[in-house]
Amino acid sequence: MRAITVSPGIADSARLEDVPEPPRSDGAVLVRSLALGVCGTDREILSGAYGSAPPGERRLVLGHESLGEVEEAPHDCDVRPGDLVVGIVRRPDPVPCLACAVGEWDMCRNGRYTERGIKERHGYGAERFRIEPDFAVKIDPALGILGVLLEPASILAKAWDHTERIGQRARAWQPKCLLVTGAGPIGLLAALMGAQRGLDVHVFDRNQGGPKEALVRGLGGTYHTDAATLARLAPDIVMECTGSPALVRECLGATAAAGIVCLTGVSEPGKVVDVDIGRVNRMMVLDNDTVFGVVNANRRHYEMGADALARADRDWLGRLITRRVPLARWREALEHRRGDIKVIVDFAE
Ligand code: BGC
Repeated sequence: MRAITVSPGIADSARLEDVPEPPRSDGAVLVRSLALGVCGTDREILSGAYGSAPPGERRLVLGHESLGEVEEAPHDCDVRPGDLVVGIVRRPDPVPCLACAVGEWDMCRNGRYTERGIKERHGYGAERFRIEPDFAVKIDPALGILGVLLEPASILAKAWDHTERIGQRARAWQPKCLLVTGAGPIGLLAALMGAQRGLDVHVFDRNQGGPKEALVRGLGGTYHTDAATLARLAPDIVMECTGSPALVRECLGATAAAGIVCLTGVSEPGKVVDVDIGRVNRMMVLDNDTVFGVVNANRRHYEMGADALARADRDWLGRLITRRVPLARWREALEHRRGDIKVIVDFAE
């Protein structure tokens, strides 16, 4: 079968190649791939800056945003042949740490977790993959190809879950205004979940006009391209979805009192920006503000994400997928093109 593989640590080493069928040891459920989403993490792996192959191997099958149809499953599990499923990315560390031991591998304490298509485990960028039944998440069949949005949605489901838990430290917490920075797939999914919660949604992005603005309006939200307006907004919640150091700086201390800033973007280190950290600290202390980061997701978050996608407007979700590239031309999926939001590799084409 064909798979997109890479030698982690070596730039531009990715290729489409023939690899053996997935081994039984990957899990009892056999899945035929339908689509694979690509994101910044994949680009970082392709640049040689991130990722690692399974122990003893040189190449890694890329891909962590999966969607496939079950071909084979044991009788005593929740998934059946024909079901549409998405694979969970992370696997608990072998110790396991206290977090992994209770199924919260997304909060792993010792860093020895593995991740499919990223860290020491082959990914989902192959025509077929195998998976353990507990790590396959069923999606509403009506979503079809849109199910490929579940992995990114799971990250935002976690971001919302944690934001709400933090908010509940104050009994009277009732957020009204949400600011999302960045209208990429992560930002737009954050905005979708904010709109589903009845919040007044504001999204900031550098791009004027185009599909992103229309998508924000489609949620009943307000689209901003002028950073100056953000200073006047005083949102209860900020979801920072760019990882841009300058924007992160703008978000710190920008909330209303008891505000929450959730950071979701993995930034490139080495970009130094000036910050009056004394001012930031003063504002955060005097206002009881919280700034926290989120990465990855556990099974509960995938289920919450699947529910959010199932409740969303299909046409709106469909407009997030701006390009579909056949597997044979997978390289094009990783190019940045104007107007791109989510780009997927389509295994059916
Ligand atoms: C994935 C996460 C993963 C993170 C760090 C992200 O792109 O969505 O599941 O934990 O990269 O490797």
